Amino acid sequence: MTIHIMPLNDLREHDESTTCWCLPRVEWHEEALVIHNSADGRELTKPIGRRV
Ligand SMILES: [Zn+2]
Repeated sequence: MTIHIMPLNDLREHDESTTCWCLPRVEWHEEALVIHNSADGRELTKPIGRRV
């Protein structure tokens, strides 16, 4: 199971993949967390957790 955390309404659509254009950081807990970076460098104030 992989959970993607990505910014809401970002300037660019993110791919739910570790090879997304934003070069997401992957952290391993009980599940893999893929933490995406926003296109405009804003903080992840309202991340979406999505299970794929
Ligand atoms: Zn991304």
